[in-house]
Amino acid sequence: MRSTMVPGIRISVVVPCYNEEGNISELYHKLNEVLGSFNQAEIIFVDDGSTDCTSALVEKFAHEDKRVQLISLSRNFGHQFALKAGLDHSIGDCVISLDADLQHPPSLIPDMIKKWNEGYDVVYTVRRDSRKLPFFKKLTSRCFYFLAKMLSSVDVHPGAADFRLLDRSVVDVLKECRESYLYIRGLVSWAGFRQTSIEYTPDKRFAGKTKYSTGKMIRFAMAGITSFSIRPLQLSLILGIIIAGIAFIYGLYVVCIYTFTSKAVAGWTSTTASVLFIGGIQLIILGILGEYIGKTYIENKRRPTYVIRKKHPHN
Ligand code: UDP
Ligand code: MG
Repeated sequence: MRSTMVPGIRISVVVPCYNEEGNISELYHKLNEVLGSFNQAEIIFVDDGSTDCTSALVEKFAHEDKRVQLISLSRNFGHQFALKAGLDHSIGDCVISLDADLQHPPSLIPDMIKKWNEGYDVVYTVRRDSRKLPFFKKLTSRCFYFLAKMLSSVDVHPGAADFRLLDRSVVDVLKECRESYLYIRGLVSWAGFRQTSIEYTPDKRFAGKTKYSTGKMIRFAMAGITSFSIRPLQLSLILGIIIAGIAFIYGLYVVCIYTFTSKAVAGWTSTTASVLFIGGIQLIILGILGEYIGKTYIENKRRPTYVIRKKHPHN
């Protein structure tokens, strides 16, 4: 059995919530079933700028149960930042994060704790492909993990979710990471420590709709790829060299045709095509450069990555 570092709290549960009023009660009851009367636990609900009754519901549970806490962010900062706020404020020896919509079954928590007690510092979960997940979600997730593997240096298991247990030592490392483009899955993999995984079958969302719009998903994917590697920049350099090489050879060919034959005026098609092609490649490369320069600019400001409006209980 692992020793207690902070007297009192052994297990923290962190739940980012964005307009999840339909799920809070069910999730709280499921967590209650798992935790029973174990009082060395805290359940931190991070309200990511919800406009529904999420906060009010959590406050109601917090009045009845001392283990429940609410952190309300001042606006919608996004899932990764809500999760980070919860991790930053947790004090348990191990911290379990899960989504509010019950797609991450709380019944898996005892197995995670068992692995932690065996000495693992990170117990992450890997989604078994489930028929309950929408086809679009499965497709985009597969494409993302394929691209991330090709383009970035950090190895995240395909299907890994933000449903995991972290030992205090790992949470302390994550607390040090104050990045404006957060990709916690990548940070956990980067941090190292002794890691193991458990498989689970995701359930259907209990209530409400997904809070990950396509725009949010694209931003998340871009953060995943560009936060951990400059490989896209290196690839654009290689591509640039190849294209420039081809253009140079073609240029020599054109000069030879002009000098040694009388067919020089022929072919505006090839001229237009090559100008458009090279122009297109340049724009892509400029875009990639812009992406990284933009990120450097934002990171340089060192703004807080989330803002807390209120906490319950206040401390
Ligand atoms: N979430 C959040 N802020 C956001 C979007 C989502 O805190 O801007 C929370 C959401 O309430 C849920 C979790 O992140 O607890 C995962 O979101 P969702 O279930 O909508 O994502 P999906 O399962 O569809 O990928
Ligand atoms: Mg979900």
